[in-house]
Amino acid sequence: MVYGLISDIHGSLEALEAVLAELKDCDTFICLGDIVGYGPDPAACLERVRDLPGLVCIAGNHDLAVVRRFNVTWFNEYAREAVFWTQRQLSAEHISYLDSLPLRARAGEAELVHGSLPEEMDYITTTWEAASCFEAMTGNLCFIGHTHVAEYYWQEGNSGVAEQKALWSGGAVPRVDGRRYIVNPGGVGQPRDGNSAASCGRYDTESGAIEVRRVPYDVARVQAKMREAKLPESLAKRLAVGR
Ligand code: ZN
Repeated sequence: MVYGLISDIHGSLEALEAVLAELKDCDTFICLGDIVGYGPDPAACLERVRDLPGLVCIAGNHDLAVVRRFNVTWFNEYAREAVFWTQRQLSAEHISYLDSLPLRARAGEAELVHGSLPEEMDYITTTWEAASCFEAMTGNLCFIGHTHVAEYYWQEGNSGVAEQKALWSGGAVPRVDGRRYIVNPGGVGQPRDGNSAASCGRYDTESGAIEVRRVPYDVARVQAKMREAKLPESLAKRLAVGR
């Protein structure tokens, strides 16, 4: 089975369609949270993701903020404004879908969480943060999102020492027997690793192969929609630079 890996779509339909075209050979999909928040098409993105074949989807902090289960005082003013705007775009049915998403799930050998284990909304940006996630993992593989940075961490067995490797231009995660992995496929709708192209991943359960792919999309069109919707200008601007 080949899973398409998507995370942090953030209401960007153009970025989502671009990565789904890239992942058209995938039988089934994993979504690592934050379908909505920031971007101009939350309802359309939610419906497109919800209908993906075999979808396993978990909640991100923006999904929870929209359904009032994550305190928006943790967000900066622009993110908060986008949460309130997003709430006005969604139907009761959309809200109940977001509310139904679990905080953790499994797909094959992989554990899925938006931020980290054991705290679902913690960020993993360093090897020592990754080490605590490795400690909480029950298996050898965990997929995460949340930072919008395409990268992976690996650890030799239970050594407690993690290594970090960037995948900002995409590429394969070399799997070595005895090593455990935390993989972040990067952000679909608001990449923050300096590459403005949408990021996504592919996971083949037969061979164990995992790779990240970067897919250019129509950033200007998303920015135009954001300006039309009067979403904060800084959120539109950052898309062009991938920050
Ligand atoms: Zn996010």
